[in-house]
Amino acid sequence: NKDASDSVDLQKDELLGGLLAAGFDERSCLSRYQSILYGKGLLEKPSSYLISRLRKYEARHKECGPYTESYNKTVKELRSGHFSGPSDCKYVVWISFSGLGNRILTLASAFLYALLTDRVLLVDPRVDMTSLFCEPFPEVSWFLPSDFPLTTKMRDLNPQSARCYGKMLKNKSIANLTVPSYVYLHLAHDYDDHDKLFFCDEDQSYLHKIPWLMMKTDNYFIPTLFLMPSFEQELNDLFPNKETIFHFLGRYLFHPTNRVWGLVTRYYQAYLAKADERLGIQIRVLDTGKGPFKHVLDQILSCTLKENLLPDVNKQQDFTSLPSGQKRKSKAVMMTSLSSGYSEEVRNMYWEYPTVTGEVVSIFQPSHEEHQQTEKQMHNQKAWAEMYLLSLTDVLVTSGWSTFGYVAQGLGGLKPWILYKPENGTAPDPPCRRAMSMEPCFHAPPFYDCKAKKGIDTGVLVPHVRHCEDMSWGLKLV
Ligand code: GDP
Repeated sequence: NKDASDSVDLQKDELLGGLLAAGFDERSCLSRYQSILYGKGLLEKPSSYLISRLRKYEARHKECGPYTESYNKTVKELRSGHFSGPSDCKYVVWISFSGLGNRILTLASAFLYALLTDRVLLVDPRVDMTSLFCEPFPEVSWFLPSDFPLTTKMRDLNPQSARCYGKMLKNKSIANLTVPSYVYLHLAHDYDDHDKLFFCDEDQSYLHKIPWLMMKTDNYFIPTLFLMPSFEQELNDLFPNKETIFHFLGRYLFHPTNRVWGLVTRYYQAYLAKADERLGIQIRVLDTGKGPFKHVLDQILSCTLKENLLPDVNKQQDFTSLPSGQKRKSKAVMMTSLSSGYSEEVRNMYWEYPTVTGEVVSIFQPSHEEHQQTEKQMHNQKAWAEMYLLSLTDVLVTSGWSTFGYVAQGLGGLKPWILYKPENGTAPDPPCRRAMSMEPCFHAPPFYDCKAKKGIDTGVLVPHVRHCEDMSWGLKLV
């Protein structure tokens, strides 16, 4: 995996071994250049093919992005409804939808899809996207301009819309000879069997002709792209190691803005930098009702003690002595959660009793926002900063089903211990397990064989696409 000499080279290389393009103004986005100072290079070198495809993508983006000649022409045609023939530039518009962890995963999925299909990705900025993420591509923005003609319409697109691809298939309205100027791809968790045909090669060859694809999804759908013969070879060439796909795409695309970077770096310097070891614990409680819950606290403790991630405490003795000359090791534990209850309990435990190892354990939590507030700027900035901070730890514990945790593990190149989701208010036994890979889980994959036109278990077809640890029907790359 990690070759020592490689990682030394990469440490020195602020452009992450060529993954990032040169030519940005450094001060406009400090995180692009400074992430390397926080102890996190890439796990391994990206393939030279991936690097060349990224540069090619950037060139196309520059050619076709907002307010370029080609963009202006296609937008004009979109307004008038008259198309002069096949256009040089085709687009995927990513519609902002769902929580921030979900959005980061879907944006990476949409970008890879754009790369594979020679399209340009444009991002619906909604209320907060520009305050969270720097521009990833040189010179031309990835944000959809506010005067884009479909902006209002786009937000109302739903499975019942006439231009929804699944609906068009149901109505057999695609037999109609003229190619529509845009189609809506509904790839959210509630999509139906017709919408899922997006993942069939035959449907891709139809979609290929359409200039504008409007995509709404809350799923990391990359695992299923690996099961499509038309993309398989290209994906294998781009990513010889299937485990580092989101690691590379995430580090390529998602650079916190200076505002968010301030939240990350100030916190890191104050609470994490000096410790001998950093442990991240991400708590996401999906049960309804008001926490903190005792069974969740018990689960956190039984997982971290059993797996030796945290030292046990000695309730019988008042102090632990160390052999003379031995220094006490310090362990910084950053917990993230919407509620403060869990970290308070754990912190108290380490205050009230000594650790059996003599280690000094400090427990802290950046925020406790109480509930999800998707449309609020500071709330999302904190959520993004916390995902990023978790990615900077050495060892990570995450909560099953949570995309917030998937983002942290992928960016950080960490294989976390996953806390299984509790059922009916009880902590599962075992409480957690080590992840097979650092890839996110696709929560709502199709189970369909496009060729045979029948249902199939898509989690057993190839060795690198498996069912997830935390969700038995999900799919992930390993
Ligand atoms: P998921 O629901 O766990 O898959 O993750 P998402 O990020 O998609 O949605 C959860 C949202 O709730 C986040 O984006 C935050 O807005 C909020 N949230 C959940 N857990 C935390 C946390 O530990 N810290 C902060 N700051 N926000 C959180």
